[in-house]
Parts: sequence; C-alpha cells; structure tokens
Amino acid sequence: MTGHAHHAVPDAPPLAGGVSGSDALRPLLGTVLDALAEGARRRNGPLPAGGPARTAADVADSLAACGSTDALAQLTTLLAQGSADPAEPACAAHLHCPPLAVAVAADLAVSALNPSQDSWDQAPAATELETALVRELAALVGYDPAQAAGVVTSGGTESNLMGLMLARDRELTRESGRPTELTGVPGHLTPRLFASAAAHFSVQRAAAVLGLGEAAVVSVPVDADLRMDPDALEQRLKHSVAEGEIPVAVVATAGTTDTGGIDPLPRIADLAAEYGAWLHVDAAYGGGALLSDRLAPLLDGLARADSVSLDWHKLGWQPAPAGVFLVRRAETYAPLARRAVYLNPADDEEAGYPSLLGLSLRTTRRPDAFKILATLRTLGRSGLGRLVDACHDLARHAAATVADHPALELHTAPVLTTVVFRYRPASAGPDGTDRINGALRRRLLHEGRAVVGRTELPGEGPGRVRLKLTLLNPHTTPAEVDALLHMVAEAGKAEEAMSDG
Ligand SMILES: *Cc1c(COP(=O)(O)O)cnc(C)c1O
Repeated sequence: MTGHAHHAVPDAPPLAGGVSGSDALRPLLGTVLDALAEGARRRNGPLPAGGPARTAADVADSLAACGSTDALAQLTTLLAQGSADPAEPACAAHLHCPPLAVAVAADLAVSALNPSQDSWDQAPAATELETALVRELAALVGYDPAQAAGVVTSGGTESNLMGLMLARDRELTRESGRPTELTGVPGHLTPRLFASAAAHFSVQRAAAVLGLGEAAVVSVPVDADLRMDPDALEQRLKHSVAEGEIPVAVVATAGTTDTGGIDPLPRIADLAAEYGAWLHVDAAYGGGALLSDRLAPLLDGLARADSVSLDWHKLGWQPAPAGVFLVRRAETYAPLARRAVYLNPADDEEAGYPSLLGLSLRTTRRPDAFKILATLRTLGRSGLGRLVDACHDLARHAAATVADHPALELHTAPVLTTVVFRYRPASAGPDGTDRINGALRRRLLHEGRAVVGRTELPGEGPGRVRLKLTLLNPHTTPAEVDALLHMVAEAGKAEEAMSDG
C-alpha cells in the first residue's frame, strides 16, 4: 500500500460475503425475522384487508415514514403485513406454494455468496451442483441421465420457450437446410404447433417470441377434465400435413393449471412420432406428481418427450424461481450453444473448465439449483412425496365437501391438488351466477379473509366464472378447508342477498 492513498469508503456498509459476512448478516437476520413475525401478526389472515386502495396508502405511508436506521425493519413489516401468504390455509388461489424453511435458508446462502451460473469462474461448486441436480431430475423423469441435458430456469414460461425454440430449430433447419437461429423462419414454410385448448398461455407467447406468430398454435379440444382429445389431435395433424404445413411440435400438458388434467401422454407421443413433430411436455404443475408413488403413474409416457418443463416452485415447495428444463437427448441442445470469449473461451474448455452458458437463454443466472438440491437431500423424494399426497388428500376432501354442500357445485373430481367449483345461488340465471361468483371472491379479498381462485374453462362460454382452490399447503387441515368453503358459501349468500335487494 506504500505510496497509495487509501480509497475505501469510510463506514462503508458491510458485505454479506467473505469471512466477516456472516457476522454482518446475523443481526440483520434477527431484524428481518422479527419483522416477518410482526407483519404476519398485524395482517392476522391470508392477505391484508381493505383492497388495493388501502394497500397503496399503507405502502405510501411506510415509504414516507421509514429512515436510514429502520428501513429494513419497517419495510419488512410492511411487506409481510401486505402479503398474500400461501402459508395461511385460506390463501389457496394460485400455484404459488408456501416455501419450506429449509429451502428458504438454502436460498439465503445463495444470496449471500451470489454465484452466477454463466461461467465456471463465477460459480465453481454451483456449476457442479446444478449439473448433478439436472442428472437426478432427468432420472426422475425417466430419461437416461447420461444422454439427457437440462438447465435450471426461471419457470415454466422460460422452459416452454426453450422447448419450442429447440423444436423450431430442429424441424425448420431440417426443412430449410439453414439454421433457424441465424436466418429466422423462412417465409415459404408454414410451421404449426399443436397444444390443447387448456395449455398454458406461455405456449402462445413462445410462438410469438420465436417468430412463428401466435396463430401458429393450433388449439386442440379437451374433455371435461381439460385433457387433450387425442383423436382431435390426430385429425388436426393430418389436416395440417395435407395443407403443406410443418408440424413443428406437439405440446402436451401434464397438469393443467386449473384442473390438473393430464393429457394422454402415450397416445400423444405416438402421434408426435408418426408426424415427425417434437414432443414437449409442460409438466410445470404435474411434474410434482413424480415425487409421489401414488400419483407418479399418471405421468406414464413422460420419458418419451423430447423436452420437459418442471417447476419446483409449485408442487415442490421452493421459493420462486425454481424451474427446470430437460431434454431427452443432449445433442438436440446444440442450437443454443454459444461461445462468448469472456465467459467460455475454447482454451478454458479444452483445459477442463466446464461451462453452462450454452444451456440457458440467460447470462447472469442464480444457482436456483442449490435450494432444490438442499431440499431433496433433506427430505428425500419420499419426504416430498408425502407432502404431495397430503395436498392431494386435501383436494379430495374439499371436493367431497363441495359435492355435499347444497349451495356449492363441483366441476370434476380433482386430479392433483386443485378443486374447481362454483357457488350456486338459489335463484339466478347464468349471468347472475357468474356475477355473484366473481363478486363473492372480491368480497373475501376485500375483507382480508380468503384468497380463492377464479377462472373460466375452455368449452364453456366466455364469462362463465368458476372458483378454484389450489391446495399446496401440506399443513392445512381438512377442518380448515371446510371452514374456507363455508366462508365461500356465506360470501355467496351475502352477494346473492345484495343482488336480490
Ligand atoms: C405455472 C405454469 C406455467 C408457467 O410457469 P411459470 O413458472 O409461472 O413461468 C406453465 N405451464 C403450466 C401448466 C403452469 O401451471
């Protein structure tokens, strides 16, 4: 240091990493944990009461009032108080799970060390850990881990985009003889993607992003459980080929977002093979069934997919994001390979430094594999499977309660952990029924009493409102589910009385 001025900022705030990082974090963790508890106590329910205007005012007040010494405590309290907390039994609308404490603790380690998966020299151990996780999950899906490849993603949306990108590049490169990723989609080709009417909207988004256009997605009809009708798929594939179009990919959904319906995978795999289309299975929700001995057989045929989307921030109890994208054969990943001279230079790779860069669409990337691995090692597949089964049992219990309730109407028996139903007013036409169901849900939100899902199903007219419970909290008891359904029925009665009056 001789001859140099000391440039360090005086009183610079402490960092989370390094030998003294833990000492710097420890008191702040106490602050955060106390504030989380205080916020939950003040909220005293599944979400803050008072609706959007009240939340906006609370946020504005807190931002104006907190200062440099108490910002962390004040804002954490605000966040907790103002959260819709999926750990509350009456918070049961979305595929948004209460994360396990072990997963959140593991995620803290990741945040403190901040490795980035885009080059080995930013993430030596994390690179190996992600590679190990991908191998384990490939085996879980039924792939040969030595042949498969994959990456941890931000979720089903990104995984679906990647699957359809690889499909596009395989099929259209074969057709045009030129790599799609460099030249774009040749104008004389008409690529088509086939997905059920209940497939996730990210399939259309992916088609748009990939330059195929949303109109390239052919919608295949579904049955009442929202499963793809394979005869209709066959008919559409046949028609498409007769028209000179290219069936680039079939997207099967293993666990539709609303009903958990699982498309008939073996038959769809046969059809995709027959028509030379890539098979992508969106198992963002249903992939969790692989953890359960009872439910795993529902996914028979999954191993025939060219690519698969999984989401461990749904049936996997991870804090988001925890998506996974897998391909059955690593060589189909080639179009994504990238050489960035500052990240994965050839001489480093030749010298044995591995790189995950070419596996992801992203550059900087958190090692979200870490929390998943820590959870899998702590609970094992069977421990996680018991949580899946507990939620499946809750859904079956909820369905039985709905079926027995004079004012509630069940849509279909649950497949995974969702229950689709509606309030049935004593006297109201279809439009009145829809209005009451929509309003009862907002009433519960506004009162801070429950977060219940709302959806509309393909095959029913637009505006035909259905309610939904998405049960992802294995600690919820059947009595709590019954209490929630009772609240829904009471809110329905109150709305009905208002629309009668
Ligand atoms: C949730 C979901 C997605 C989207 O996944 P994200 O993780 O939210 O990006 C895609 N497909 C299905 C079937 C889903 O349930």
